[in-house]
Amino acid sequence: MNRRHFLSRVVVLSPLALWIACTKKKETLSEDELKKLREGAKDYHDSIQYVPEGNPIAKALGYVQSPDANTAPDRKEKEGVAAEDQSCENCHFYVIKEGKPYGECQLLLGKGMVKAQAWCKSWAPARKAS
Ligand code: SF4
Repeated sequence: MNRRHFLSRVVVLSPLALWIACTKKKETLSEDELKKLREGAKDYHDSIQYVPEGNPIAKALGYVQSPDANTAPDRKEKEGVAAEDQSCENCHFYVIKEGKPYGECQLLLGKGMVKAQAWCKSWAPARKAS
């Protein structure tokens, strides 16, 4: 192979090699790539507009995002469901966002999302489909 032939091959094959390297599908992600994806998911999750606990309707409902004995002293056993087992995600008024840790509450429509683990005094057990 003479020099001219060699250079013509380099000129033709280099862009091809670069294109293959750029478009090659990765089988696994590095720890850094996974970390960035997780941070992106967290940023996305943090950007969700939740119902503020200070919203007048939310306040009237006693809505709390992290219910426990201190934040939700009114949360008591109801219809056979223990206080600690009551949360938005198993409430009759909860509208599930498939695969998301939040949803909409029919009593707080248009006010933002409610967290799946949140709670309010209007909690009622979700009715099972018949
Ligand atoms: S009514 Fe149900 S879904 Fe709505 S905030 Fe209260 S507990 Fe959550």
